[in-house]
Amino acid sequence: MKYSKRMSCLGTETAFEVLAQVNALKAEGRDIVSFSIGEPDFDTPENIREAAKKALDEGYTHYTPSAGMQDLREVLAREVNRTRGTSYAPENVVVTPGAKPVMFFGILALVDEGDEVIYPNPGFPIYESMIDFIGAKPVPLPLEEAHAFSFDVEKLEALVSPRTQLLIINSPQNPTGGVVPKESLQRVAELAEEFDFWVLSDEIYSRLVYDGMFQSITQFDGMKERTVILDGHSKTFAMTGWRLGYGLMPVKLAEGVARLMTNCNSCTAAFTQVAGKEAITGPQDDAEGMKQTFHERRDLIVEGLNAIDGFNCLKPAGAFYVWPNVTEVCANLGLPDSKALQEYLLFEAGVAVLGRQCFGRRADNEDQEYVRFSYAASTEMINEGLRRIEEAGADRERAERFWKSQG
Ligand code: PLP
Repeated sequence: MKYSKRMSCLGTETAFEVLAQVNALKAEGRDIVSFSIGEPDFDTPENIREAAKKALDEGYTHYTPSAGMQDLREVLAREVNRTRGTSYAPENVVVTPGAKPVMFFGILALVDEGDEVIYPNPGFPIYESMIDFIGAKPVPLPLEEAHAFSFDVEKLEALVSPRTQLLIINSPQNPTGGVVPKESLQRVAELAEEFDFWVLSDEIYSRLVYDGMFQSITQFDGMKERTVILDGHSKTFAMTGWRLGYGLMPVKLAEGVARLMTNCNSCTAAFTQVAGKEAITGPQDDAEGMKQTFHERRDLIVEGLNAIDGFNCLKPAGAFYVWPNVTEVCANLGLPDSKALQEYLLFEAGVAVLGRQCFGRRADNEDQEYVRFSYAASTEMINEGLRRIEEAGADRERAERFWKSQG
């Protein structure tokens, strides 16, 4: 049977594959400490759950407008204006099942085959996947340890051209936890104006900034007209399984994205939207409490990793990820790269992390190795994981035996 050519271009999010491996190992009775999946380990706050239950009983079980319920769009526009200093109207908002469709539909609506798209690398793997799928040209923008995992503005200037149709930024960042400084955002805004390109600003971790204030590119003049803000409830309110996200964009584009919603999903689940409104308008204590806990865990894991021989870990300003440099650990253990380290730690130490290869293609000149830890795990789990890693990291013989057994 024939398949469409474009299917061979579609990438994936390997975190889900590692999650399946972790679950298979657990089903075999193995005890695994998982730092692999990027989702809060907390339950959704009670007021949000109650709002959904009530909504079901009140009959919110039907289709809603494709762009989302009007009162939720109003609440989201107000919230974004409050946190970004912008002046969006409800017509600028499209509500989607999870934040990913904002990426998918936004790219579909803005990018043609052959257009260039600049995107962060290492970065959320779906950016690269979507760019390839559309047949656009991926232009990776390196995020560098020397810039606290933001980018070098001069390198960005060298990549921008009249062929650039879209630039993706993600701050705070997955997988590094890095934050793009305000001055760099300002330079992106100037370049966007000069070269007339769109910006997709992935702000899903905007509520998880521990040092300093969250900065959105939409604060700069003229950017609201050429930016798609992507945000959602998954991370802030521990609602990954509910599927609730939203985008803010110019009205004409919002109409296009809503039409894509009509074609694909019809709408986001009605009772989820009601719960999503409660999340924004109700008490924020639980969301703030989760943030405080993430902050404490960040400090714990950074300190713990830096105490282990061969790990060098910067303290990232946001999200719930750390991205330690493990070049030395790989060398100490005789392992070729972070993918081998990922497998060694999973199968030999029972610790799940994600290697560099999970976050976009490597550049030819890349010679450093990194792994991602999602510290959305309890303090006990973090301490136990660190203990196992320290033990496995000191056992070169075991690592060599493991690597040989892998052929
Ligand atoms: N953007 C980034 C950078 C993410 O890390 C994620 C989820 O991991 C998403 C978007 C997607 O969020 P959602 O689960 O709401 O679709």
